[in-house]
Amino acid sequence: MSNTKGYAAQSKTDPIAPWEFDRRAVGPADVQVEIAYCGVCHSDLHQARDEWGGSVFPMVPGHEIVGRVKAVGSDVTKFKVGDLAGVGVMVDSCRTCESCRIGLEQYCDRHQTVFTYNSRFPDGTEAYGGYSDNIVVDEAFVLSISPKLDLTATAPLLCAGITTYSPLRHWNVQPGQKVGVVGLGGLGHMALKFAHAFGAHVTQFTTSPGKEADAKRLGADEVVVTRDPEALKPLASTFHFIIDTVSAPHDINMYLNLLKRDGAMVLVGLPDTPPAVSAFPLTGARRSLAGSNIGGVAETQEMLDFCAEHNIVSDIELTPISKINEAYERMLKNDVKYRFVIDMATLGE
Ligand code: NAP
Ligand code: ZN
Ligand code: ZN
Repeated sequence: MSNTKGYAAQSKTDPIAPWEFDRRAVGPADVQVEIAYCGVCHSDLHQARDEWGGSVFPMVPGHEIVGRVKAVGSDVTKFKVGDLAGVGVMVDSCRTCESCRIGLEQYCDRHQTVFTYNSRFPDGTEAYGGYSDNIVVDEAFVLSISPKLDLTATAPLLCAGITTYSPLRHWNVQPGQKVGVVGLGGLGHMALKFAHAFGAHVTQFTTSPGKEADAKRLGADEVVVTRDPEALKPLASTFHFIIDTVSAPHDINMYLNLLKRDGAMVLVGLPDTPPAVSAFPLTGARRSLAGSNIGGVAETQEMLDFCAEHNIVSDIELTPISKINEAYERMLKNDVKYRFVIDMATLGE
């Protein structure tokens, strides 16, 4: 008998389907979380379909995990049974290198970050993610969640939230600065909410004319539909910072031209093919092009606490796990406002 019920992809061409497997026994430093909800990130789809290469199967996707603590090991101090808890994109790292010591476990210098799924622990066992009824994680990688937050809509903060919060903080976005958000999906709508909460003047770039009214409601001061590249011309050299959340190949040079001198564009979207970048928009105004990967454990907690204080959560559509493959297809068609969250109570149905 396996101790965990979940859903997995058995290969890159199989649909996500029921699968039972074993979690490790709860060790002294471990917290076992009974999963209530798990967000559906576009990275789940990229990896389940092996779009980035090197995927490990069977794969239990899911790294936007929230629920209640079901068991704790003897050395655990931060959590007790019944507490609300979250697990994001990482479940371990070396913890001793320079990056790990300063709370940047996602950039572990020894490349020993263990991701929540499609990854292996140092002993060679596979990590399985949140499309399942429970997860066992070292308490150092478990987050506390305020009871003030709507738990269902909090799940996506664990990836979409931190992935957009972290670069906005790192590049020190200030009140009054002009910030652009490219793509209004799971990550994009959180970037919009955070940039607005930080006091920036925010412009949403979208390929979907139907999202204009929502973008304004979510905090955009302006919305630009990018199907007509002419619409971008008057905005040249006006932005301090642009965050690109797009999941598919697209032209990034047209956005680089929108940055002021010394402005930065940060890629968080991870299309499966590399972008073509012209050096001219970079050299022409000393602009930077950078990337950013999720956020460290301490910063993820900071982001969750900020959300509790400012009442920020995701806009979600709850789905039963049996409709996960349909949810993937709808996500690919930009047909979700703005994040699917799986109701894990439907696992037994
Ligand atoms: P998503 O919900 O599917 O949103 C992606 C958005 O990109 C869409 O809503 C759409 O916005 C836009 N888009 C889609 N296809 C496009 C195309 N062909 N041309 C232009 N725009 C297009 O995905 P997500 O979950 O937010 O994830 C976005 C990307 O970030 C994925 O590649 C994911 O793997 C990556 N990611 C990275 C990190 C990290 O740490 N760096 C973390 C999580 C996810 P509009 O309709 O507004 O145009
Ligand atoms: Zn994600
Ligand atoms: Zn490390």
